[in-house]
Amino acid sequence: MLVNTLNYPIYIGALPPISHTGKVLVVSDSIVAPLYLDKLLKTINAPQVFSHVIRAGEVHKNQATLEGVLESAFEANLSRADCMLALGGGVVSDLTGFASAIYKRGIGFEIVPTTLLAQVDASIGGKTGINNAYGKNLIGAFHPPKAVYIDPSFLQTLPKREFKAGIAEMIKKAVCFDLDYFEWLKTHPLEQHLESGIAKSVAIKAQVVAQDEKEAHLRMGLNYGHTFGHAIEKEQNYQGFLHGEAVAVGMQMANALAVKLGLLDTHARAQIDTLLERYDLHFDYQVPDIEAFYQDLCMDKKNVDRPRFVLPTKIGGFQLIEDTPQDIVTEVLKAWS
Ligand code: NAD
Ligand code: ZN
Repeated sequence: MLVNTLNYPIYIGALPPISHTGKVLVVSDSIVAPLYLDKLLKTINAPQVFSHVIRAGEVHKNQATLEGVLESAFEANLSRADCMLALGGGVVSDLTGFASAIYKRGIGFEIVPTTLLAQVDASIGGKTGINNAYGKNLIGAFHPPKAVYIDPSFLQTLPKREFKAGIAEMIKKAVCFDLDYFEWLKTHPLEQHLESGIAKSVAIKAQVVAQDEKEAHLRMGLNYGHTFGHAIEKEQNYQGFLHGEAVAVGMQMANALAVKLGLLDTHARAQIDTLLERYDLHFDYQVPDIEAFYQDLCMDKKNVDRPRFVLPTKIGGFQLIEDTPQDIVTEVLKAWS
């Protein structure tokens, strides 16, 4: 299947042969490479193919790892006619995308995403970057890939916990953008309908990005659950929940706030709850210090003294709220204390 809403093709299905007239530098990580690098290399037809393996994990999405990728690109003497190819999860695709954005002022790159999160979210939309001591994704560039190859069979080796965390990002999109997809997720267990579930999720993200690449309005909806989720991840020093798990808790906090503000009715909230539970995305979480947590919420988006929340208004709709008084947020958070 082909999604061509954006300026680049997104293929969904068994990995097709990949042909290039220039050189290719494949970048993967230390967990994915032993599993799939050989398989991928066999499908690439190019004059020369190089590979570079980075250490797996979010902590390595940094400048030192980036320099390693650039070093390999120089050693391979890549020119603007050549490209990089990311094989891995969102860490690999964000980092490789950024390396290709700045190498010789930009060369092409392609993505073969191997986590559910990367297949339905990180590989689509052209955001690339790395983390630094000040926070996540603070150094980066918009640099869309030239092509994305989504092969769900790569997910067979993905740890179950990582898989579930990816589902949170699918539910996120259903709630903010698409009632039909929400209903579909209720009646079509992803365990049996994985490829179509991924394809629908990709189509939604592609449509949103096509209308609002630079996140002026519509793309904000993708941040549902993320203001709270990022604060949870920060509070746990990025060593507790996986990102998708934190987002699942964050969506429930956002829902509680939306109900409190009269934006969402309790029936819709219960439906979202039920879907999260269906995919085992209910987690126990306690906010250790509500005041400190509130400060983290404010930090999530720069240059505002009040946190901004993407809140659902119904299933298939959302609003950006920028002026919630602190005491209302605090009141909502008491349910998690
Ligand atoms: P990840 O890349 O760290 O992958 C998670 C783990 O799974 C890693 O240990 C990886 O080695 C392993 N793995 C990957 N594929 C596997 C497979 N097929 N079988 C077995 N193990 C496998 O994390 P992720 O969840 O894919 O992505 C998270 C990153 O994506 C974050 O850095 C986040 O900022 C970024 N992201 C970017 C965007 C965007 O728009 N650019 C959107 C969402 C998230
Ligand atoms: Zn996310």
